[in-house]
Amino acid sequence: MTKPQNYINGKWVDGSLGKLDMLNPSYDTKAGEIARSGEKDIDSAVKAAREAFNGVWGKTDAANRGRMLYKVAKILEENVEELAELESKDTGKPMKQARTDATLIARYFEFYAGAADKFHGDTIPFSDDYTVYSQRVPLGVTGHIIPWNYPLQMTGRTLAPALAAGNATVFKPAEDACLAVVRAFELIHEAGFPPGAINLVTGLGTEAGGALANHPGIDHMAFTGSPEVGKIIMKNSADHIRPVLLELGGKSPQVVFKDADLDAAMPVIVNAIIQNAGQTCSAGSRLVIQEDIHDEVVEGLIKRFNKIKVGPADKDPDIGPIINKKQLERVESFVARAEKEGATILAQAEKPEGKGYFFPPTLMGKVNNDSFIAQNEVFGPVLTVIPFKDEADAIRIANDVEFGLIAAVWTKDNGRAHRVTNAINAGQVYVNGYGAGGGVELPFGGMKKSGFGREKGFEALYDVTAVKTIIINHG
Ligand code: NAD
Repeated sequence: MTKPQNYINGKWVDGSLGKLDMLNPSYDTKAGEIARSGEKDIDSAVKAAREAFNGVWGKTDAANRGRMLYKVAKILEENVEELAELESKDTGKPMKQARTDATLIARYFEFYAGAADKFHGDTIPFSDDYTVYSQRVPLGVTGHIIPWNYPLQMTGRTLAPALAAGNATVFKPAEDACLAVVRAFELIHEAGFPPGAINLVTGLGTEAGGALANHPGIDHMAFTGSPEVGKIIMKNSADHIRPVLLELGGKSPQVVFKDADLDAAMPVIVNAIIQNAGQTCSAGSRLVIQEDIHDEVVEGLIKRFNKIKVGPADKDPDIGPIINKKQLERVESFVARAEKEGATILAQAEKPEGKGYFFPPTLMGKVNNDSFIAQNEVFGPVLTVIPFKDEADAIRIANDVEFGLIAAVWTKDNGRAHRVTNAINAGQVYVNGYGAGGGVELPFGGMKKSGFGREKGFEALYDVTAVKTIIINHG
């Protein structure tokens, strides 16, 4: 069992508001407990972080910060199986996906361990009388709030670059799933960070989350989650005049031209929507397909959708349950509304028996790109098929949503691949492939209402630092 406590100033302490039960969505049983926290706990964590930033952690040089992160990576790597089991029980993701996620949290710490002492400013040519250089300095205390869909991965994604750059951190994971994250912090403790450099406070969004987003003592806020809460976070940051990074939702298109290698595309298209039961911000949820190959592709997809195995996470099916009853009902309501608006269900996998919150992968045809289901994020395993005539039509449809997170273009024509990737408004565009969130090295983030700021890769370090320019007049 993980500790139902917060990790503040290097110590495990009870939450001031008691505890919260965590649910196993595969069986509708209790999975564990976490601390329920509010203003008091967040305030202690922010104070501890400030002291660490002004004290030992703030004076730890880049090479030693890197060594510390590398230690974390090693400890996490040695415990992948235990972390994966907790993550799978808590989120309902199949064990093979949970193992990938547990490996990736370690990989984030490893990547930023290597980056810590290679990130620096420039010298700037100005005038003979001056020497000018810039420094990349940490912002101070950074706040981090993440959702429930990839708790382990996102912990590494948001904390590792902030720590590598020298910030002290206060982190609040989601109340729907974070048991593996609490365990990861028990392991991180073994790496021996100076107290206060890395703090964990669990609890409800409106209590612990709101308290963190509103706290005057933080210098940067990184938020991943829904657009609705993203707006609240941005308003809070405006009140305190501090930078904010928002990673919000998506409605990502997979654009398939008639010359595409369909044997290669088909399994990737399916996986891009069923991974994590479709609860992925970068899920490939709109299949934008040239009308000449529409019937052939749909026929192939129907066969594949019918074979997808849905079941409890510990049985390692193709996809597990939806995170909870509320989200399940939300997905069901999207499909019901789409049918009312004229779309049809082309294929639906079998729904297993049991008390889990299962929603079978669903392929929907006759979908108009203006319809509700084509414009709004389902956050479930529902793929909508939208035909197009020619390249211009494909680009128009791909861009005709409020979001712009990621996209894919499937074609054997190199010129077309370049033209279409240039024309699509999204933070990442794949050609003949798709990686829903994959690739620690690859800058990731949104355009339009998918948010702004970049995580992952070297790029993430720019968001959690400021440029300081030193101008020396030596006459
Ligand atoms: P959510 O916005 O409800 O919750 C996200 C986090 O915010 C949780 O930790 C929650 O406790 C906290 N929170 C909720 N209300 C808050 C408040 N008033 N003040 C401060 N914090 C608050 O989102 P969700 O339902 O947990 O996740 C699903 C959404 O997240 C989807 O829209 C999805 O697309 C998006 N998402 C985006 C990415 C990305 O990288 N772009 C990744 C995963 C999920």
